[in-house]
Amino acid sequence: MTPKDLAGKTALITGGSRGIGRAIALRLARHGANVAINYFSRDADAVDTQREVQREGVPCVLVKGDVSEPASVDSVVARTCEALGPVDLLVANAGISILESHKEISWTTWKKTLSINLDSVFLSIMAVKDGMLERKYGRIVCISSVAALRPRQRQIHYAASKGAIVSMVRCCAEAFAPHVRVNCIAPGLIETEMGAGLGPEATKSIVENTPLNRLGQPEEIANVAYFLLSDQSSFMTGQTLAVSGGRIMLP
Ligand code: NDP
Repeated sequence: MTPKDLAGKTALITGGSRGIGRAIALRLARHGANVAINYFSRDADAVDTQREVQREGVPCVLVKGDVSEPASVDSVVARTCEALGPVDLLVANAGISILESHKEISWTTWKKTLSINLDSVFLSIMAVKDGMLERKYGRIVCISSVAALRPRQRQIHYAASKGAIVSMVRCCAEAFAPHVRVNCIAPGLIETEMGAGLGPEATKSIVENTPLNRLGQPEEIANVAYFLLSDQSSFMTGQTLAVSGGRIMLP
């Protein structure tokens, strides 16, 4: 039986309606957390995930909003607090991936990627950290990528956004210690809609160069997110864990 070790805690997951965020929402619900699911536009996916989370017997609210916009993030956090109480667990997961080579990349793509992948992490952390510090309790997990740590084709902008998250996590961890812990996950290629966007050829090549010889599943990232949000990682802060089937070891 799954321990209800997060009972009474409120978790906010940005981009929690699909893919990795959805798996994390379900995993935290299984451990008893109240869950707020943020998403941007796809209502049907969000409602479906909400239903699944509620099946775990915990309250779950949808907090739609663009997390790259300051006012919208404030509203997402305020609606979460109103419905479920202050945020104890933040998962900064929302993100996009637009594949463009150095020949194709536009200023618009750069700005959009940095805004949704990086500004969103900054804004959501800033919106919850004062409450966490006051209550002397908080756990934050940010979702980066192996692209932050290794060169990847057509991902100059994406890698920059994900690399900055790794640095931000270290600084926040130092600033918010000792009561608020901040950690990061750098997933390899995971079987989600975003992952599928890479296309069959690139995917085949990644799998061939992954020691565990397969794609990752969203639930395998959720396992690590739960670990980092729970007391099982009580002596860890400021860390980035690569969850990539060993691909991070290879060039
Ligand atoms: P998906 O594309 O499957 O899901 C993205 C989620 O983010 C959706 O819930 C989407 O909402 C939400 N979202 C997108 N933009 C915004 C926004 N501006 N405001 C609020 N929510 C938004 O992505 P994954 O699950 O694959 O990826 C999740 C995270 O993991 C991302 O940060 C990604 O960069 C990272 N990652 C993924 C990898 C992979 O292979 N899949 C590998 C490494 C890292 P809606 O549906 O409403 O648009």
